[in-house]
Amino acid sequence: LRKEGFTAIPNVSWDEVGALKQARKQLTTSIIGPIKHPEQYLNWGINKPSGVILWGPPGCGKTLIAQAVANEAQASFILINGPELLNKYVGESERAVRELFERARLSAPCILFFDEIDSLVSRREGSSSESGVRVVNALLTELDGARGRKGVYVIGTTNRLDMIDEAMLRPGRLNKHIYVGLPDADERVDILETIVRSSRPHTSQAELDYLAKVARDIRSSRFSGADLHALFVEAAEHGLSRSFDDNVRQFTEADWEYALNNTKPSVQNTI
Ligand code: ATP
Repeated sequence: LRKEGFTAIPNVSWDEVGALKQARKQLTTSIIGPIKHPEQYLNWGINKPSGVILWGPPGCGKTLIAQAVANEAQASFILINGPELLNKYVGESERAVRELFERARLSAPCILFFDEIDSLVSRREGSSSESGVRVVNALLTELDGARGRKGVYVIGTTNRLDMIDEAMLRPGRLNKHIYVGLPDADERVDILETIVRSSRPHTSQAELDYLAKVARDIRSSRFSGADLHALFVEAAEHGLSRSFDDNVRQFTEADWEYALNNTKPSVQNTI
């Protein structure tokens, strides 16, 4: 599904997303609500799709939650990778942007997801190429809705909000900014449980109970969701090869010990 430019309703459900309660609430109000209950939004005089920026360190669930939002709203989802858009359509990125919005309108309701949007609309002065400026202008034209943005919801992601051209962040454009940060201890427990439950539905309650200890261990204190996923895979691989010898097919303390000793946090400094 991460395939670039592909249009489909994602099969990621809320059950696969751990923690991120605040982001979930905000996205429900900004995107799911208007798609599911347009009449109520009209009643309050809100009829323009809002644009959202999800920002924060890598691997904390920005792409995952956006897919769950699309699934919940039964909206189609188009994933665009910012750097790829620039490289793949050298000199024609502007036209590519127009065509993406056209395709999104045709499959509305639709979430147009620009991963690493800062690569398209960076505010670094002097460094913006001519094609960069053209892409920014094409995006602004589409966001301002000259052709109508009805039913098209834009989500952009970035690690750094301060890298984005201010013009993109103004009211009516990408004006909702939602921070998706490293999880705290309780959130890590929730995320690890979510990952284990959804990847391995037959996991026993005793095995699940042990996860709280793992997620609160000092060694996982700076783990992102992606790191917790990597931790799970390490433990499962250890369990798998161990079970050939001892025939125990449940997670053991040794599996998690091995995983904790062999997984490193991927995010260095918090933003
Ligand atoms: P990037 O900035 O690198 O694109 P991201 O914030 O978009 O990162 P995702 O791609 O959504 O991060 O997350 C990577 C993987 O980490 C997910 O596919 C999932 O396995 C796991 N993960 C991250 N956050 C969560 C979460 N809150 N709940 C469950 N799994 C998570």
